[in-house]
Amino acid sequence: MGKKISFKNFEGQEYEINLRKPRKELEADGLCYPPKDNAKSKILVNPHLKKEKIKEIILHEMLHAFFWELPEYKINYLAKTASQIIKKLT
Ligand SMILES: [Zn+2]
Repeated sequence: MGKKISFKNFEGQEYEINLRKPRKELEADGLCYPPKDNAKSKILVNPHLKKEKIKEIILHEMLHAFFWELPEYKINYLAKTASQIIKKLT
């Protein structure tokens, strides 16, 4: 917990992933902030979840960072499907 890891999306936008719970009123397991000009953007993932779920949410929020224009239902479907397959095969 408390680990901070950065990556860059296709456009070179830097993102920092933080295992920290998004604000309570958002009622979300994760959050991906929009790309910013000349600044680091953030992804938050709730650390108080099962490990499998945390992995899925990290993937989900990273997909937002790479494909900002993709609708939520597609991101959700891809992250869930990939997580289930990875879980079955590993
Ligand atoms: Zn989402």
